Amino acid sequence: MAGPTVAIGLARSGYEVKLYEAYARRVQDVGSFFNLAPLGRKVLETLGIADRALKSGTICTGITFQNHKGRWLAKNPETTTNIMRGELSAALREAAVAEGVQLFTEKRLDALTERPDGSWELGFADDSSAEAGIVIGCDGVHSDVRRLALPQAPGASYAGVVGSGGLSEVGEQFKVDGLFHMTFGLHGFFGYQTIRPGTILWFENHYEYEERTMAELARLSNAEWVGSLVERHRTDPGVVSEVIKASAGEVWRWPVYEVQQLEQWHRGTAVVIGDAAHAIQPHLGVGATLALEDAYELTATLRRQPDAAAAFAAFQADRSARTKEMNKQAQRMGAFMAPRHWWQRTMRDLILPVAVRSAIKRSEQGFGYRLQPWPPAGQIA
Ligand SMILES: Cc1cc2nc3c(=O)[nH]c(=O)nc-3n(C[C@H](O)[C@H](O)[C@H](O)COP(=O)(O)OP(=O)(O)OC[C@H]3O[C@@H](n4cnc5c(N)ncnc54)[C@H](O)[C@@H]3O)c2cc1C
Repeated sequence: MAGPTVAIGLARSGYEVKLYEAYARRVQDVGSFFNLAPLGRKVLETLGIADRALKSGTICTGITFQNHKGRWLAKNPETTTNIMRGELSAALREAAVAEGVQLFTEKRLDALTERPDGSWELGFADDSSAEAGIVIGCDGVHSDVRRLALPQAPGASYAGVVGSGGLSEVGEQFKVDGLFHMTFGLHGFFGYQTIRPGTILWFENHYEYEERTMAELARLSNAEWVGSLVERHRTDPGVVSEVIKASAGEVWRWPVYEVQQLEQWHRGTAVVIGDAAHAIQPHLGVGATLALEDAYELTATLRRQPDAAAAFAAFQADRSARTKEMNKQAQRMGAFMAPRHWWQRTMRDLILPVAVRSAIKRSEQGFGYRLQPWPPAGQIA
């Protein structure tokens, strides 16, 4: 998300931009979907690429919440977008290439050396190399740029959550109503949207305190994984199991990782942004939006302050309060996900409608955050 977006911003600001991506395979095929919050769309609209980037997405005109007994709790009327991760990624890369960004795939960064003049030498897993005046690590939660440029920074840690997602083929009883329907199940959180007649996108998150790696989860057959989710939601409203059982094709699953707030997001003229700097727990559904905001704001900062080292320090100072706040909100939402005791669930059901109303109000105000127009581009240092 962050990589092609900041590449677009910097190409428009007069930089020569090269985007190195580890994977070669068609990014459209890379797993599952996510929900893009209003500010994520706003970034794309402000850049004039929203229609193109989100063309394959489905608009959600609201998010509804029910509890494990099927009791209606609250509705968030914000308009968001559900979109396949790979489709958005591919569209953003195409938009970046159209802006003159040079895209290199199958280039997995595995070495980064700062030269005495402050520029960087990059080494890749295929033994090729490159050089750069500025390095922006947009390489996600397991960031190699973070590991190489900021060796003191903590790595990714398991967030205690396993996520799943899939596409289901269902009957006419599921209406295309524009809503994203969420259920606080007894042992996991579930959401679905009917994106067209007969087709549903769904996700499920649950706590697993013992970490299972991606490879361990992948070893389970589809039928085993579906069976375990159905069992987990056995006592929840029937729609949860019905949708999961109707999965067509592979059900995606992942252990979820987070990155504790870094003390430093930058060293000299290298910086990390997006999940590489601040992967938060997934319960708020704003990780991609924060990555897009970072890309927008980093461009703004470099236009204001073309000295990269100074710009990166200013960027971190501006952005860290926002990402800390969103992390706090995500943790709060996570505590609601599957409380162990009945009285905690009762409290949640009482608090949630009020919390959602107050979150909507704060979200309308961007949780105190506003995108500012880019300043005119300064002279590149
Ligand atoms: C289960 C789950 C559900 C989620 N749901 C939502 C949601 O509903 N809404 C939402 O907003 N967010 C959601 N998120 C979070 C969201 O996916 C991330 O916050 C977002 O993708 C971060 O964007 P990014 O650009 O920082 O990193 P990424 O999107 O992770 O991109 C990193 C890129 O770097 C590449 N890369 C990695 N290492 C290297 C290397 N060494 N060399 C070259 N390239 C490399 C990768 O291939 C990838 O293309 C979810 C996350 C999870 C795990």
